[in-house]
Order: sequence, then structure tokens, then C-alpha cells
Amino acid sequence: ADAAQREGVFWRRAATNLDQIERQVSLMGELDDALAAGQIEVFYQPKLSLAQGRPTSVEALVRWRHPERGFVGPDLFIPLAEQTDRIAPLTLYVVERVLTDIANWRGLGPDLAAAINISAKLLSAPAFNAAIERLLERSAIPTSLLIFEVTESAAMSDPDKAVAALRRYRELGIAVSMDDYGTGQSTLTYLRQLPLNELKIDRSFVQFAHQNRNDAVLVRSTIDLAHDLGLKVVAEGVEDAECLEFLRAAGCDMIQGYHISRPLPLDALLTFIATPVAAAA
Ligand code: C2E
Ligand code: MG
Ligand code: MG
Ligand code: MG
Repeated sequence: ADAAQREGVFWRRAATNLDQIERQVSLMGELDDALAAGQIEVFYQPKLSLAQGRPTSVEALVRWRHPERGFVGPDLFIPLAEQTDRIAPLTLYVVERVLTDIANWRGLGPDLAAAINISAKLLSAPAFNAAIERLLERSAIPTSLLIFEVTESAAMSDPDKAVAALRRYRELGIAVSMDDYGTGQSTLTYLRQLPLNELKIDRSFVQFAHQNRNDAVLVRSTIDLAHDLGLKVVAEGVEDAECLEFLRAAGCDMIQGYHISRPLPLDALLTFIATPVAAAA
């Protein structure tokens, strides 16, 4: 009976995996059309400067409003897009959208930069980098309003090319941020090699830092390390006031998380930036 049960579990799992694979394959076919159909939307999550008490940048986060499946999150389709070579067109679409949207909030108040997530894989793609440069040349938006967020990841299979691409972005005037810091494999190597302006401490370290002694030590020493290297520090995933106060005391420069704001569609962002941020007071 035991063996039969195990076998039942095995086949159910296999079927689930197949279902999943089938769903993913069909999603990828649809992603090409989704871009053209305007189903890919860009939301913006503010990063609050603790010194200035206002957001100084926002992070662009893609959402797929699928006509039948409803909302599909980026954790589901970005990895697939990376595997199937759809990540370059998708990212170029996001960059274009961001350049258009920045024009909408410029002039409403102090400068608000936009951060864009760039898959590590794209850093060594010459066609992608050339296309980015063309987009920037055609745009009236100054590159000083752009930040590229990259993760320290195994996808940086060609570190020399990645470093060269990041240097080029910096020459163009774009700031470079290391995303999800602490979760990669080769943290210190990348810190030494990559031309960075900013470091984002991963949510998994930040979230309980005000409650957990080990997390607190890791977050505090990461902030000090980054500052000693001349980098600004962002904490991601700040969900409550206690966490914010811990980070303020630890000298963190910027915070991002549901406590400040969820990622917002453009119109809601415009309302948000017109309203003083209570959490910063
Ligand atoms: P990320 O760049 O680390 O973005 C932060 C993620 O954490 C976002 O999830 C955001 O909504 C979520 N988040 C923000 N604050 C909080 C909080 O206080 N608590 C919790 N629990 N979560 C919070 P999202 O939007 O689902 O994006 C997931 C990941 O997908 C991003 O992680 C990024 O790696 C990737 N991604 C999103 N947009 C793009 C894109 O345009 N291009 C690429 N290559 N990747 C993207
Ligand atoms: Mg990011
Ligand atoms: Mg992140
Ligand atoms: Mg993260």
C-alpha cells in the first residue's frame, strides 16, 4: 500500500510539473503579443531618503495584466523571459516606458530618479547595450535621472563583460545599484570589481533586523561597509515603523517597502509624490 501511495504521489507531482511547464510555455508565446497589446505595465515603488524626508527615486517594477489569467507577477515571467531570450525586448520596453513616465513627473517637484532592473544576463549582450544607448540619445531625459539595478548573480557568467557594460553605463551618466545584496554567491568579489553607486540590502536581512540580533549585526555592518566604500545604502522590504527606526539609527540612507508605499501605477505615484510622507517625520 505504501509503494502504491508513493507511486500515486509521484505521478501527481509529475502531472503538476507538466501542467506548470505547459502553462509556462504558453505564457512565453503570449509574452510577445502582450508587449504589443499593452498588457505589460510598469509600476513604481518610491525609495525614501531618510536625510531629505522625501522620495528621491522610484523603482520600476513590471506587471503583466493577462486577459484570462489576471495579474501575473514578475517573479513568474522574468526568469522565463531570461531563459527564452525575451528579456532584452521586455527591458527595452520598460526603459522606453520609464523615459516617457519621467517626463510626466519632472517639474512637479524636486528631481525624482527612476531605477530599472537589468538582468545580469543582458550586461554581456552587445545588441541590448547598443539599443539602450540609442534610446537614451533619442530621449530628452537626462541620464542622471536613471539608475540601473543589477543583482549579484551566477548569471554574471562573464564578469569582465559585465564590468565593461556597467562602466559604460556610468560614463553615460547612469547610476548603478547592486540589488538584493547578501543573497548572491560572490558578494565581496563583486563589491570589489563592479563600479557601483548604491547597494540595496536584500529584504530577507532587513525585514526582521529590528527583532533579530544576527540580522541586526549583518545589516549594521553592511551599511558601514558600503559607506566605507563610498556607496549609498538602500534597505528594501521595510514593512513597519520599528524597522524604519532601526535603519535610521544604523545610518541607512534610503528605505523602500510597504511601510512607505507599495508599487504604484503612474497616476497613483503622481498623487503620492504630491503628498508629504508621514513615515519620514
Ligand atoms: P526586486 O528588484 O528585488 O524588487 C523588489 C520586490 O519586492 C518587488 O516585487 C516589490 O514589489 C517587493 N517589495 C517591495 N517592498 C516590499 C515589502 O515591504 N515587503 C515585501 N514582502 N515585498 C516588497 P515584484 O514587483 O514582484 O518584483 C519581483 C522581482 O522581479 C524584482 O525584485 C526584480 O528582480 C524582478 N523584476 C521586476 N521588474 C523587472 C524588470 O523590469 N526587469 C527585470 N529584469 N526584473 C524585474
Ligand atoms: Mg530591484
Ligand atoms: Mg531588490
Ligand atoms: Mg530582493
